[in-house]
Amino acid sequence: MLAFTIFAIAGHAFLPKKKLVLHPAKASIFELFTDEGAGGKSSVEWIDAENYRWQCILRESETYPVCGFSIVLSERPYKTMDLSSYDALKIKLRYTGGAQKIRVYLRNSNPAYNPSGDIEEAKFESIVIRTSDIEQETEIQLSEFSVADWWKDQYDIPRNLSQPEFNAVIAIGIDQAPPIQYGTHQYQLSSLVMTGDWIKQETLYLYVILSWMLVLAWEVATRLILLYRRARRDSANLEALQAETDKFRELSHTDLLTHIANRSGLDIHLEGIIERQGNLKGYVLMILDIDHFKRVNDQRGHDAGDRILSQFASLVSESVRADDFFARWGGEEFVIMLKTTDTGTALAVAEKIRLKIHAETMEPQRPLKITVSIGVAMITGNEKFNSAFKRADKALYQAKRGGRNCVILADKA
Ligand code: GH3
Ligand code: MG
Ligand code: MG
Repeated sequence: MLAFTIFAIAGHAFLPKKKLVLHPAKASIFELFTDEGAGGKSSVEWIDAENYRWQCILRESETYPVCGFSIVLSERPYKTMDLSSYDALKIKLRYTGGAQKIRVYLRNSNPAYNPSGDIEEAKFESIVIRTSDIEQETEIQLSEFSVADWWKDQYDIPRNLSQPEFNAVIAIGIDQAPPIQYGTHQYQLSSLVMTGDWIKQETLYLYVILSWMLVLAWEVATRLILLYRRARRDSANLEALQAETDKFRELSHTDLLTHIANRSGLDIHLEGIIERQGNLKGYVLMILDIDHFKRVNDQRGHDAGDRILSQFASLVSESVRADDFFARWGGEEFVIMLKTTDTGTALAVAEKIRLKIHAETMEPQRPLKITVSIGVAMITGNEKFNSAFKRADKALYQAKRGGRNCVILADKA
């Protein structure tokens, strides 16, 4: 882009110019004129028409002496030329004679001041050049032309139309300029060419700026899209990672064999209760221990023992409510945190579980009966879990001692 900018700006100066040849050109009509029509005595004649050489003899008379030539594009009605996109007029003219200055003029037609489209009424825009300044090829900038005061006065032109215009030129010419030098003047016009830039400098700069803006906008847009995509990808990755983390967290709190909470899951549950209410008051801790489970393992093997543990967990899960919490403490021992302050309810729930296990047949294909002993501790006040656990464990021990397959309520804290 930088290279393009440098190339465009530096290269602009070396770009070939836009050209419009007005003379010699087939379409144009070359006219010589004098003041004769207005009663003057000046005369004009071709010396060498083929090479566009003519001679004016300016003679003093009642009228203002006039002698010159003009190029028009066509016969009446006149064709107009839009020269507004050109910058300069290059003229190759040879003058011999005593005049100090000559005048180059354009006539521009505009319906606002020239409804007839006649040359005589068209805006007269001219520049006076010293004959000593006429070189082999003279370049006249269009900005050097100015609108003649006599023309403005004659047609009563408002200010907004008093500026030079080049959008509808109908004639270009050369004639004498003050101070008037009577006598013989010879001219030879070799060429008349309009020149201009293909792209104006300000237009080029505008394009360069626009290109930069486009490139920058493109850059910003692609970067934004890239950032947006990356953000979406990252957020998707983050979500996947979060899901994975949640899964692992869940797993770390779950017992792999029975799919109920493990000790770590129980810890979290207890923390939740303490966070909510400050202590474990209003809960009941039950410890469930399968009776003679060692025997089950011994008789049926460890795998069957695993299956029975799993089945046991499912059966107990069905018996607890959503508010209650059931976890595997370890081995064939389980705990329940039951939400009730009523001892009767707590014992009824424990009894219901005990009876359900007692009634159930494990391993239907090779039936086996198991029983469970349960220690129940009502938690009141600010009693810690460990303290309640000891009481429940003691009650469980009593249940085992008392013949198993029974529920024992622990002593009060
Ligand atoms: P009690 O009625 O006094 O509770 O007798 P028990 O045999 O159940 O008690 P004990 O503590 O002597 O034995 C528990 C047995 O539980 C020992 C162990 O083989 C078995 N056990 C512990 N965890 C698992 C397990 O994950 N899978 C299996 N299959 N057996 C287990
Ligand atoms: Mg045990
Ligand atoms: Mg046991």
